[in-house]
Amino acid sequence: MAANREGQEENKDRYFKTLHGNKTLLQSEKLYEYILETSVYPREPQCLKEIRELTDKHPWSVMMTSPDEAQFLSMLLKLINAKNTMEIGVFTGYSLLATALAIPDDGKILALDITKEHYEKGLPIIQKAGVAHKIDFREGPALPLLDQLIQDEKYHGTFDFVFVDADKNNYINYHKRLIELVKVGGVIGYDNTLWGGSVVAQPDAELDEHILYLRDFVQELNKALAVDPRIEICQLSIADGVTLCRRIG
Ligand code: SAM
Ligand code: CA
Repeated sequence: MAANREGQEENKDRYFKTLHGNKTLLQSEKLYEYILETSVYPREPQCLKEIRELTDKHPWSVMMTSPDEAQFLSMLLKLINAKNTMEIGVFTGYSLLATALAIPDDGKILALDITKEHYEKGLPIIQKAGVAHKIDFREGPALPLLDQLIQDEKYHGTFDFVFVDADKNNYINYHKRLIELVKVGGVIGYDNTLWGGSVVAQPDAELDEHILYLRDFVQELNKALAVDPRIEICQLSIADGVTLCRRIG
């Protein structure tokens, strides 16, 4: 019984840490540090390091995409030759800058965020890196902006890659629209689909209210993606979980 409680405490601690400090679901912090120090930081472009260090000082720095995930996204974008991309949820621009660096010089990123406040902090670094011309930033809630795109047929089936990293309670709504906007063979990446491990929390686990509230939406999304015949999926356990969806129809 005591061991059980201890286990629960440990789990609670892990969910909490993953969402509020750590950037990994790996079992050991040391292993994560090893990955960062050995394979990620030595290859992180200087401008990304600058935006990461700037964001580390922000009280909500935990929202930033982790460097190992950004390295993965960058590799993926190059592998699929992504040119026309979208990001929902920009914050200070870490994953945005990683995307801008990975796509060709005439590539595009439609970047949506409900506020430009944080983006403006990272923007000077993005400009200095010489990739700002690839970014079309639109301020406002993403859903109506996606609805505007959907109304114009010329945007249908045009995006090679979309990264979704914003309000988790809207992911299903985003998916309904994005599936029309991404091209057949294109990829949508939904971030935080393991939600700090809380997707498997015991019913009596003492989780933060915010985590619990969004956990239900993340679980619903995962179920819906798993049975959606229009896509192939791959659930990756990097960072806080990323689900890649490749449109097949
Ligand atoms: N991808 C970013 C990075 O690498 O640093 C992190 C994004 S952060 C987790 C989530 C962002 O989503 C915040 O900047 C927030 O303002 C934005 N957001 C929240 N609700 C939104 C909405 N309804 N529409 C658009 N953006 C939203
Ligand atoms: Ca995220």
